[in-house]
Amino acid sequence: MQIPDKLKIGGRNYSILYPHKFTDSSVVLYGLHDPQGQTIKIASQDEFGIDRHKQAQSHTFVHELLHAIDDVYNNSRLTQWEKGEETIDQLAEGLLQVIRDNELDFWGKQL
Ligand SMILES: [Zn+2]
Repeated sequence: MQIPDKLKIGGRNYSILYPHKFTDSSVVLYGLHDPQGQTIKIASQDEFGIDRHKQAQSHTFVHELLHAIDDVYNNSRLTQWEKGEETIDQLAEGLLQVIRDNELDFWGKQL
């Protein structure tokens, strides 16, 4: 999966900062959705500076994309739900599997 540098989600333009190096957090982050800044940040390396597998990076991208869709279209109800983070993670894995196994290319063709 090629991670784009920008996306339109609803009526909003999002910037995708990739590869991003998280240095301003006390917790380990591989991805972050910033609804105020309309930005998604994705790390290509782990906290030790080791390259993360491309599939793991793609999973993080889909995960943060689901957070953004939840924010724009669903008033963040899924994210704020008690089981929201776990559900988003599972949905991201499911979407990644369907996209990869069916070689879906959303970027190369007009639908
Ligand atoms: Zn999350």
